[in-house]
Amino acid sequence: MRTDRLPPPSLRLDLDAEALAGNWRALDRLSGNASAGAAVKANAYGLGVEAVVPVLHEAGCRDFFVAHWGEVAGVLDHVPPQQLSVLHGPITGEDVAYALATGVRPVLNSLFQARLWLDSGGGPCDLMVDSGINRLGLPVDALGDPLVARLEIDTLLSHLASADEDSPQNARQLSRFSQACALIPARRRSFANSAGITLGNDYAFDLTRPGLSLYGGIPRDELAGSIRQVARPHAAIIQLRQLSPGDSVGYNAVFTAERAMTVGVVSLGYADGFLRCWSGKGALRHGDTSLPLLGRVSMDMVVVDLTAAPGLAEGDWLEVPYALPEAAKKSGLSQYELLTLLGQRYSR
Ligand SMILES: *Cc1c(COP(=O)(O)O)cnc(C)c1O
Repeated sequence: MRTDRLPPPSLRLDLDAEALAGNWRALDRLSGNASAGAAVKANAYGLGVEAVVPVLHEAGCRDFFVAHWGEVAGVLDHVPPQQLSVLHGPITGEDVAYALATGVRPVLNSLFQARLWLDSGGGPCDLMVDSGINRLGLPVDALGDPLVARLEIDTLLSHLASADEDSPQNARQLSRFSQACALIPARRRSFANSAGITLGNDYAFDLTRPGLSLYGGIPRDELAGSIRQVARPHAAIIQLRQLSPGDSVGYNAVFTAERAMTVGVVSLGYADGFLRCWSGKGALRHGDTSLPLLGRVSMDMVVVDLTAAPGLAEGDWLEVPYALPEAAKKSGLSQYELLTLLGQRYSR
């Protein structure tokens, strides 16, 4: 067995726990009479379940949602099983057995899943109704099926397709979900995601399910004043280099120096979620100083112009621009992608 102490990585993700808790409280308040839950699928949108879930639970969150069965154990380290639902539901007997063994609730999305659950003995479950996104969920016209009548439904859910836009689809989905609520007895009803929370109290029902905005995402301007940045990636300079006029930088030599300049090689690449769409566009920061990226983003490195910060040395840390609305605009990636792309190599 190796007992060597692993040195800290040259990449780190600072998580602002105050901002995360504050974002949940803001979304809970904006949810009116409904409570806010939390979507923590995909490792809490890339930020790390082990850091995020305890903060949300401490802030008062009592309803958590993951997508995969493989994401259950990490959440159960911090919350009791009756507070966790699995959005993809069961598609095998093994999924059902795991749900029963752990005590978490499956979200049933189809008659196939309802039958699988009932055949195993079932128990409390959630039911997803499709109100127009045509992704997961039982169509409203299947709600009369006798299998549905046999379910013991804790939370009846549906999911908005276009809540981040002023689309007539929002009201159409609301009307269809309200129809489902009138047909199906359930302990609670849940409809709105982060953007949906801004659409008004009619959309809140009993429980909202924000994800993106917990982590600093701003899908609609209405949230801009209430939501703070949570994730701040940092990367270290691992080499300084002097360029002479005519020297090029990186793969395919897409940047050529016109003057003598000092550049820094930084430990951040597309394997860390900093995709090649940032090539030639972005800048890293040191305090208030902006350090433009030069040339292509490589797998493990980028090169920045250090002209504006001549005092920097190897081992110094730079901040990656991750104010999500601006970073999305600049990179062409969605705010969701920016978060979930963050790789495994950051210390969190
Ligand atoms: C991911 C997800 C959410 C959270 O959506 P955001 O837009 O991130 O707030 C809510 N409900 C369901 C069913 C989801 O899949």
